Amino acid sequence: MESKPPTLQTLPSDELRAILWRFSERYDLSMLVQSVRAVARGPVARLVANGARNSHEWTDEKNSLLEVFDGSGISAVFLGPEYGGFIEGPKNLAMALVAFELSWVDAGAATFSLAGNLGLAPIHERGTPEQREHYMSLAAPAEGRAPIRAAFALTEPIPFVGVETGLLGGKLRVVSWKDGEEPVLHVDKRGRFITNMGFANVVTAAVDSADERIKGSCLVILEKGDQGIWDRGIPTRKLVHQLSSTRDPVFSLQVPASRIIGGYTVKDGVIIPNYSHGEVIEAVFRRTRVTVGLMTAAKLLSAVEPVIRYQRARFRGGEAGEPGSPRYDLGLQTKQDVLHRLVDVWATGEASAALGFEAARMFDALDPLEKAKDRIFAERKLVGRAAFKALAKLGDEAIEFLNLSREAAPDEAKLAALRDDPLVQFALLDAQANVFCPACKLWNTGYGATMMREAVSLMGGYGVTEDCPGFLGHKWMDAQLEATYEGPEAVQRRQMSLTMTNPVFLALFETWIKDLRATASGRPESGACLLASAMQLWLWTLRHLQTATDANGQKLYQSNRQGVTFPLADALCWLLASRQQILDAINLETSADAHPAVAEELPGVLSFLISLCHVQAARAAGEVSRICADLVFGYNSHPEWTEEACAACYGASELDELEGVIPGIASAARGTGTAHEDSQAHPVKAGPCPDVSALQPFLRLNGKLNSCLTGSRLAKDRAAVALSKVMIPEALDYPQ
Ligand SMILES: Cc1cc2nc3c(=O)[nH]c(=O)nc-3n(C[C@H](O)[C@H](O)[C@H](O)COP(=O)(O)OP(=O)(O)OC[C@H]3O[C@@H](n4cnc5c(N)ncnc54)[C@H](O)[C@@H]3O)c2cc1C
Repeated sequence: MESKPPTLQTLPSDELRAILWRFSERYDLSMLVQSVRAVARGPVARLVANGARNSHEWTDEKNSLLEVFDGSGISAVFLGPEYGGFIEGPKNLAMALVAFELSWVDAGAATFSLAGNLGLAPIHERGTPEQREHYMSLAAPAEGRAPIRAAFALTEPIPFVGVETGLLGGKLRVVSWKDGEEPVLHVDKRGRFITNMGFANVVTAAVDSADERIKGSCLVILEKGDQGIWDRGIPTRKLVHQLSSTRDPVFSLQVPASRIIGGYTVKDGVIIPNYSHGEVIEAVFRRTRVTVGLMTAAKLLSAVEPVIRYQRARFRGGEAGEPGSPRYDLGLQTKQDVLHRLVDVWATGEASAALGFEAARMFDALDPLEKAKDRIFAERKLVGRAAFKALAKLGDEAIEFLNLSREAAPDEAKLAALRDDPLVQFALLDAQANVFCPACKLWNTGYGATMMREAVSLMGGYGVTEDCPGFLGHKWMDAQLEATYEGPEAVQRRQMSLTMTNPVFLALFETWIKDLRATASGRPESGACLLASAMQLWLWTLRHLQTATDANGQKLYQSNRQGVTFPLADALCWLLASRQQILDAINLETSADAHPAVAEELPGVLSFLISLCHVQAARAAGEVSRICADLVFGYNSHPEWTEEACAACYGASELDELEGVIPGIASAARGTGTAHEDSQAHPVKAGPCPDVSALQPFLRLNGKLNSCLTGSRLAKDRAAVALSKVMIPEALDYPQ
């Protein structure tokens, strides 16, 4: 008897998710997930259900969440055990999981936990040992003492800091500086949209020098209780994330110079901060933005169950459908379109979670390597230009390592030396992280917001009511904030347009294309081959645009041509997300034997996830093809039916004469649009067509990409059928 193909029985379990997102070996993280989930689906969900989001004020009931967060361990996740935390080592994945679980219910709740970490992050990343010791210890919840609550103040009232972080209005001056004593500084800072400002008592604020005795900019630590004005300002009348507090504070305070984050030196009577505000922000945001990306991913995946339940129950109770009839059992799910759209929402959720968690894991791996690199550079006294040159050399070595590792008979000694060199490994991972972080922030939140609209639409009118199960309407609007704060899409695209051309990243990218082809030979239905073709097209397009000029002879790939660089960055995001989704599914398959607990559900879930991979790869390939074609052809001017243009073409009678000498030329020239008929009248809708002979390689790659779509709609049909059969619990498990 022929065996039936495995089908999706239930939604993926926690155990399976932990394998998929590769933390099944981390008991501490599994415990953390359970603890945060209880908070999210308990107190947080109850607040939302009771209408706490209807006000942007920071109310007592919202404030009560602070203690709940302290009690559940959420407040201490960011801290090392030496400061009262409970997670050893880097914590990017841990914080990503916290944000994911909270945002499954409400991203505002996730944001105020994140914003506290963001407030402390400048001290964590660049603080002096004394600053770190002092503030991190105070941030840990402890018996008999409330922990300090932090906020991060960069953004200022217009016309100052927004996307352009260099336009600082906040100022720093010397108030007094007695011989042999610590200078006393005056800080003037007005913030706009500062999260946690309803209750924060420590603020890390970006300021610029307004005094010739201070050089450049820096971040300073402000404390409630410092001499001067600590005005929390008016609450932001926001439409989103109402479970977090956002206000426009005003500070005019005196602080000792020891509050400059990272410390300072004094040269010729001038205070020189060790880190500019830009340097601190860069170190902070490159980690925290990953977490934001996961917030939107959680929303998409959280939408699946409520939408299925709504679809199934849509016609129950009516006269037309008796129990047992398709109308009763399946409701809206007898219609293919609603299933296909839900498949798209789910596939996007999987891809964005895959990308986000990979980025978080990447930073966990990068953190110790970065510390090793900093230590080695300090020992070798590599700073400024020397450090820059050393990094470039490391990049060369990283590429050499990649090349060697693909050789059939490599120089093993050399290969091992490069593999064991933390600096080379740092260069490899750093090049990836510099792309993955902005990519996951940009794509997960931006495209995620678009797909949340799709999820809301699947609930019909219910979707835009407060009663919508899963709070989907709130989540849709919230997603737009996630796309905006910590730098909106333009910031991420700008960063990617620089980092994605790093030769180390591009060398890696080429190896990924080859690896995907290999994956495809074992799992053709995953869409891996299709994705590899799309990646090849993107790479060709990037290289073409880096050297090509537009119709006016202007260089195409340059920083002020956002019309070129930004869409290419968008296209890359689609590829990275889809690739990670495929890699995770394949990894799930290969590591499953070690996890008997998921043996029963695995075959069905795996085959479903693989179908989602194919669906997403097809969507990604379509986007990449569209974007690349637009960029490759769109900057050439279209020929016109003018005397000058016609003069450059063959005339009809000319061609007839030439036909005698060069057989076939008449049809070839007419076929390529380089001929005109002698009448000189322009036939309606007949050319002249552009000459694309120089772009044949693109056309070939794009043609191949189209044929690689083979099977992608079958995958979607399979996934849709699975959605109509999967069992879901009787009721949503929140609010409780
Ligand atoms: C609820 C909430 C909480 C927040 N929390 C904090 C916080 O805790 N701390 C903090 O410091 N900030 C916070 N922010 C501020 C947030 O980070 C900024 O709003 C965000 O960075 C965008 O800045 P902006 O609003 O000034 O937009 P603008 O800079 O005015 O941007 C407007 C538009 O122009 C585009 N744009 C701007 N410059 C460029 C460019 N060079 N190239 C191309 N396009 C460009 C942008 O992409 C955007 O689409 C918060 C904001 C909100 C709404």
